[in-house]
Amino acid sequence: MIYMDNAATTKMTPAVIQAMLLCMEDIWYNPSSLYAPAQRAAEALRDARARIAACLNASPDEIIFTSGGSEADNQALLSAAQAGAQAGKRHIISTAIEHHAVLHTLEKLEREGYKVELLDVNSNGVVSVAQLERAIREDTCLVTVMYANNEIGSIQPISEIGTICWEKGVTFHTDAVQAAGHLPVDVKVQNIDLLSLSAHKFHGPKGIGALYARSGIPMTRLIEGGDQEQGRRAGTENVPAIMGMAAALEEACSHMAENTQKMSALRNRLIAGLSQIPDAVLNGDPENRLPGNVNFSFEGIEGESLVLLLDQHGICASTGSACTAQSLSPSHVLLAIGRSDEMAASALRLSLSVDNTQTDVDEVLRVVSRLVKELRGKRTVKVWGNK
Ligand SMILES: *Cc1c(COP(=O)(O)O)cnc(C)c1O
Repeated sequence: MIYMDNAATTKMTPAVIQAMLLCMEDIWYNPSSLYAPAQRAAEALRDARARIAACLNASPDEIIFTSGGSEADNQALLSAAQAGAQAGKRHIISTAIEHHAVLHTLEKLEREGYKVELLDVNSNGVVSVAQLERAIREDTCLVTVMYANNEIGSIQPISEIGTICWEKGVTFHTDAVQAAGHLPVDVKVQNIDLLSLSAHKFHGPKGIGALYARSGIPMTRLIEGGDQEQGRRAGTENVPAIMGMAAALEEACSHMAENTQKMSALRNRLIAGLSQIPDAVLNGDPENRLPGNVNFSFEGIEGESLVLLLDQHGICASTGSACTAQSLSPSHVLLAIGRSDEMAASALRLSLSVDNTQTDVDEVLRVVSRLVKELRGKRTVKVWGNK
């Protein structure tokens, strides 16, 4: 089996599983309890929080543990919006290519009376800093721009956007779920006020994530209950998952340079090989993209059919976002970079991890080329007949 769907989720590493097992077997107590064994759980939680904060150049009390990237995005946006409304500011700027955790939260805010402005991206999937700067108004309470896109891998100019927002006094959130553990993050240098991450995108467990909220940023609670997370998110902390996330983020960040080098070499080999297929178009920026992301549209085929056939050959891939894989509407990201409905529906995303090899890449190239040819053969009359 060749797994090339690491943008959907990643496999946990042995060190991560080890960290979680240790916690589940020995320090499974409620970290809020007063007796000594529970205090060891509280100590493990403090330690994990400090290590995660260190990877982002944040302070431990700026880290709020959540159930994942989606919850972190929801809380970030709702918090900034509520603080904005209290100051009479109800204008929010974002982009057309955000994850649905952001887009659907923005739709909810729009229904509540906020004015949401979604910026276009260029044909490589990158937002314009100048356009963003012009869009900021007196009543703008939030700019939310993802660090790197989950479908086409394009990396946004986060540091420049952070600087502009800082100069204009606007809260800046970035959905860094695809970036954390893969690209450098420094919330201070990059002037980031709010940042979402999710462990299962960097070889940690599913169902755990974090929201970095710069000290002083007011937080709205999504979950009412006890006063865990300094009253910002109720519920007994998932200590094993949090320890797994800390191990995963440390591991990813300490090997980032070599992982990037290995993965981008494999990525470039995949891109070069797939470019040889007639009428294949790369989606996203050729260079300014996540080290593991490859996304192509193959004219005249359906991405879904290709993904199902690849599965029969033991290759796990995706048409784009796993969250929309069940719906037949074309990807909003591919439409935003100017692809037609047909080309958007013909996309294949291959997302690598450091566990992939050159042999995997060459096998995928062989199988994809053959399947694309076969699928097009079947549709000769429909696709090529009127050319
Ligand atoms: C996966 C993903 C999310 C959602 O994270 P979950 O932990 O699965 O809720 C949000 N944003 C982006 C960019 C993602 O890739």
